[in-house]
This record gives sequence, C-alpha cells and structure tokens, in this order.
Amino acid sequence: MGVTAQDNKTRLLMDQSRSGRRGATIPALDVPRSDLPPDNMLRRELDLPELSEPEIIRYFIRLSSMNYSVDTNFYPLGSCTMKYNPKINDEIARLPGFARIHPFQPEETVQGALELLHHLQDLLAEITGMDAVSLAPSAGAHGEFSGMLLFRSYHKSRGDVKRQQILVPDSAHGTNPASAAMAGFEVVEVQSDAEGNTDLEDLRSKLSDSVAGIMLTMPSTLGLFDPNVEEVCNLVHEAGGLVYGDGANMNAILGKVKLGDLGFDVVHLNLHKTFSTPHGGGGPGAGPICVKEPFSRYLPKPHVEKIGEAYRLVAPEESVGAIGSFLGNFGVLVRAFVYIRTLGADGLRAVSENAVLNANYVLARLRDKYFLPYDRSCMHEVVFSANWQKRHGVKALDIGKRLLDHGFYAPTIYFPLIVEEAMMIEPTETETLETIDEFIDAMLDIAEEAEKDPDIVIGAPYTTPVIRLDEALAARQPDLRWTER
Ligand SMILES: *Cc1c(COP(=O)(O)O)cnc(C)c1O
Repeated sequence: MGVTAQDNKTRLLMDQSRSGRRGATIPALDVPRSDLPPDNMLRRELDLPELSEPEIIRYFIRLSSMNYSVDTNFYPLGSCTMKYNPKINDEIARLPGFARIHPFQPEETVQGALELLHHLQDLLAEITGMDAVSLAPSAGAHGEFSGMLLFRSYHKSRGDVKRQQILVPDSAHGTNPASAAMAGFEVVEVQSDAEGNTDLEDLRSKLSDSVAGIMLTMPSTLGLFDPNVEEVCNLVHEAGGLVYGDGANMNAILGKVKLGDLGFDVVHLNLHKTFSTPHGGGGPGAGPICVKEPFSRYLPKPHVEKIGEAYRLVAPEESVGAIGSFLGNFGVLVRAFVYIRTLGADGLRAVSENAVLNANYVLARLRDKYFLPYDRSCMHEVVFSANWQKRHGVKALDIGKRLLDHGFYAPTIYFPLIVEEAMMIEPTETETLETIDEFIDAMLDIAEEAEKDPDIVIGAPYTTPVIRLDEALAARQPDLRWTER
C-alpha cells in the first residue's frame, strides 16, 4: 500500500517514453539556417522523456488534480481560516480596469482604483473601530512589523527612548515575537492563566517604563475571547505602553466587537483569511494596519487621501516610510472591498455568528472523545489535545495523517505551543452541517481506532500519492522534479 494507481501513472512518465514520439510540432524554418555552437558546448544526452501531446496533457492534469484546496475539500487548518471564497470577487479583481493598470500610471488616470482603496480604508476603520488605515502591508506579519515600527516612532517622538521591550503572550502566533524582534525590540513573554486568559499577575510583574507595548491576539490563538482584555489594555496604558492587536482571525468577531472600543491602539487584519483571498500556499496577501488618530501620522506611505475632488497618494507627516512596493497587493484589496460590499453589515455579522457556531458544534460533538484543555465555549476555532490518544501511542501528528485517508486536510497541530499535542480545528463559516458532520465522524472513527487498533493510525496515511514523508527532509530538500534513479 501507499502508492495509489493514480500515482503509478504519474511516476511512470519515463517508462511511457518512446524514442521519436513527439508532443510538439516545430514550425517550418522561416529564418536563415545557421551552424550549431561548437561541439564542446552541446550536450548529447539529455534523457528527456519523449511523449505524445495527449500523454503529456494527461500527465500534468493528473498532477494538478493531486492538489488539495478549499475548492475541492474541507480544510480545518486552525488559525489559517481556509474558507471558501466567492468567485465573484476574483471576477471583479480580473476586470481589465483593475487588472491591467500599471503602478507607474499618473494618479489622474487611476482615480477609480484609488477611490476603491479610499473606500476600503474607511470600511476597515469602521469594522475595527479605528480612525485611519494603511493598506500597504502585504501579510499579517508585515502588518505586525509596520505596527512595531510605528510604536518605535511614537515613543521616539516623545523622547522616550528607554522603552525597548515588547510583551508577547505565550499563546501568540510565532510571527508576533519575530516582528517585534525584527523591529529591534526585546521580547518578553507573558503567561496565560489556567483558563487560557492573559495572566494579570504575571502581566503586572512585567510592566515597567522599559515596556513599549504589548501584542495581543483577539480572539487568542486558543480560540478564546479573553474577558480581561479591557483590563490588560488599561494596565499597559497606565504603564505608558501601547497595545497592538493581532486581528488575523477577525471572522470570529466581525460586527460584534470593535477592537478599537476595547482599547487597542494599532491592529492588523489578514485580508487573505477573513476577507476573501485564499490563505496559504505562499500566494499574495494583505495585512492592513488600522490605527487610532494619534498614530495616523506615522502610517506607512503611500496613503490614499481625498483632497478636494481628487484621490491622491500621500506620505503621512511622520511616516515610518515605504514598507513595500507601490500599493501593496492591489488584487487582494479589490477582493476584500467586493466581499465587504456584497455581504454588507448584516452579512459580515452572519459570517461571525456562523463561524463561532460551527466551531462550538465541533467542540460539543468531539469533547467526549478528545481532551479539551480549556473547557469553555470557543470563538471561531477549537483547540483539542491528543493526550488521551497518546496513552495508546497515537499522537496529534498520527491523527492528522489518518484524516488524510478520510479525504480531509489535517487541522493545525502542535500549535499553540502551550497545549500539549495540540489540534486546532477551524471549521469556518462556509461549510455545511453535512460536511462538518462527516469530518466529526472521521475524527470519532480515528478516536476509536486509536483505542482498539492504534497501529492503523500510526501507519497512516495509506491512500495519498505519497505516504509518510520525513518532514524535516521534505522541508529542507524538497523533491521538486523527476530525476533518474
Ligand atoms: C496567520 C496569522 C498571522 C500571520 O499572518 P501572515 O499573513 O501569514 O503573515 C499572525 N497571527 C495570527 C494569529 C495568524 O493566524
């Protein structure tokens, strides 16, 4: 087992090769004939497969159909919000007036595009409860980095150069401490308490006049809404620090809570999670930052402003500078705009209600078979632990692999780091009850296997094109092309 029939067909490309078989027709010579380069510059043996056109078409189409995507299957990868994205948003982004404009075109000739960006800035400000928005950052981490530069500029402009520390909770996404460190800060970890909230005692003990601010994820990466959040913001502000909000996972609270109302000073959003661009796979993204008024003067440039009747690209007074090229990932911004406008306020609220409902449904149906480290209702995702299965030798990794045999992508595993054998499941708002039930049934089957016949789970997957990979090797030396063995 392990190599499927489909994979055999793909692997046998070289065996299908027949000397002299052609998949392309070379046009008749219509330029003067010339000599080949000298012999020592030519390779005689290239060992390329020789195939007919239908064979090569089938080869590549088969390969493409091995891709797993949100358009083919359920993708419960927690914190990544792998949800279905409406195709109308792609279609609008592809309109020639958007897709074919050139970044060097004069402002007067791209007023429509700038108007769209200006509206999007306003919409995101409204959604987050902030005053000004920069669309320049191209990823969540990029937004975090811009936010940290902004914190630095703010303290520096007040002559408060002693503040060199950024507090980061132990549940945070790895990009948070990385962004703070890249901006030159020292990262100080803050513990979570037994309920998964920020430990207020630990926070108090770490606050001082060396603290530039805190990076707080709302909802947290444990999928929880921290009821102490306002107190956390107050404590940090009283100590002279600022509060940064990681709003990558906004689909839990759209139309319900505005981070600006809770006390956050700067927040980033992941448009390529919540607002209709697929996340993952290294494609383009956008991580706009939304700020309260006192910080708008530091926003990255260019910023879109309406001056008289015209839309202009301007540099805010004390801008942290350009952090990327041109206007960021424009196509992603168009998709977000269309997504927000087609859903409207009620639609966005429904997104969150369904995302939260779906995650709590998964929680309720799996809680008897999987250990729930924080036993309370969750937001858009639920974090289980495979500790009960581990007693039979089955780890979170094995459960993830076994899910592949059921046709599901694996949840996020081993993150957040503070949960042993973590499995972070995010069903998103776009899945039907039937699909979620199928996934839950697969998880229940696997829990039973883990008890009765753990070797089945430990040996999985059995039905995928390749079986278990050496993950470290696969990441460091990816096998990307065919080579003769
Ligand atoms: C995805 C995510 C990020 C990082 O976003 P990128 O666009 O991948 O850089 C940061 N924080 C949280 C909580 C996330 O889920």
